[in-house]
Amino acid sequence: MNSIKQPHIAVIGAGFSGAYLTKLLIDAGIRVSLFEKSRGTGGRLSSCSLDNHSADLGAPFYTPTTPAFKKWLDQQPDIATWNTKVIDFSGKTLPSETFHLAIPKQSSLTRRLIQGAHFAPSTRIAKISHNANKQDHKNSIYDNDGLLLGHFDGVIITAPAAQAGPLLNTTEIPRLATAYSNIANQITSQASWVQVLVLKSSDRITPDLIKGEHKLLFRCIKNSSKLNRTDGLGNDVWVIEANSEWSELNKNSDPENVRKQLTEAFLKLLPIQPEILATRTHRWLYARHEAVDEEFIWDSETCIGACGDWLAAHHLEGAWHSAKMLAKTVINKL
Ligand SMILES: Cc1cc2nc3c(=O)[nH]c(=O)nc-3n(C[C@H](O)[C@H](O)[C@H](O)COP(=O)(O)OP(=O)(O)OC[C@H]3O[C@@H](n4cnc5c(N)ncnc54)[C@H](O)[C@@H]3O)c2cc1C
Repeated sequence: MNSIKQPHIAVIGAGFSGAYLTKLLIDAGIRVSLFEKSRGTGGRLSSCSLDNHSADLGAPFYTPTTPAFKKWLDQQPDIATWNTKVIDFSGKTLPSETFHLAIPKQSSLTRRLIQGAHFAPSTRIAKISHNANKQDHKNSIYDNDGLLLGHFDGVIITAPAAQAGPLLNTTEIPRLATAYSNIANQITSQASWVQVLVLKSSDRITPDLIKGEHKLLFRCIKNSSKLNRTDGLGNDVWVIEANSEWSELNKNSDPENVRKQLTEAFLKLLPIQPEILATRTHRWLYARHEAVDEEFIWDSETCIGACGDWLAAHHLEGAWHSAKMLAKTVINKL
């Protein structure tokens, strides 16, 4: 690779790891083209709109476990802390908890982090091909229709494990396929059903977070209590998350049936029966992973790699760490 030219990297996936990696590469003077199959950034941090309301559909907040991640979050201009009133599913008051979250919605952070990159939304990458005979730009990527999208010095996949594997295999580089399958054999992914409910204003539903042991629910979050999330009409927006066990068992259930069950379970927790103004049901097929200790995949000969929460650790902090460690390696290499 010619060190005088500005290297050009393709990043596949604009979730948290892809967005943070993009920021680190751009800050190091690397040109980045970012491809995302959805219409916007965020991945499993994304938000949805229904009527005039917005709700965080994926991870509702950040819970840093290391000083380094907490320090980074505290330095971000669009991250704030949220003090929550917490009860358990039996109605018992629990100690209040403080979380980090992005304002005005969870995807705001990823949208800012990708500034400076060429961003191609609604673009699903289906193939990566490597030409060892070329000096520069030796990796090419193609979309779902077989359209060539460009030639790059390096390609980094940040999709969840189950989607990253097939893409790495399209390179037809046995080393990459082996690196992935060695890791993939140790990973299991879990689905998650999420139900958003917009309820006519009801002052008596006071907690921000309901959690604990439940045969169906994992937690219920009052999205409209989060900073900068009110709709001005005083309606409550709740995000109800089914637990992993139930979500896995009902992975292929009819969404209408899931909506009914999650809504019923949530309403049973309330002292009143509020009017439901709007609903949205969403299934995350690969919500969480049992991660491995590998941190990232990087093949220095081809400059093709992968990072994300299925490497390092199975949550946002893991995605952040994996992207950071891979960016360090890529920057040193280029
Ligand atoms: C309901 C839910 C609740 C959660 N709660 C928490 C929590 O409380 N705390 C916590 O720390 N973590 C939580 N998580 C996990 C957290 O959201 C993830 O760990 C983190 O967002 C993963 O980021 P990522 O960038 O690795 O992957 P992703 O966010 O999945 O990003 C991958 C991106 O790649 C895109 N993509 C995939 N294939 C292609 C392709 N072929 N071409 C182009 N683009 C592609 C996807 O559309 C996606 O945008 C939760 C997740 C869910 C779903």
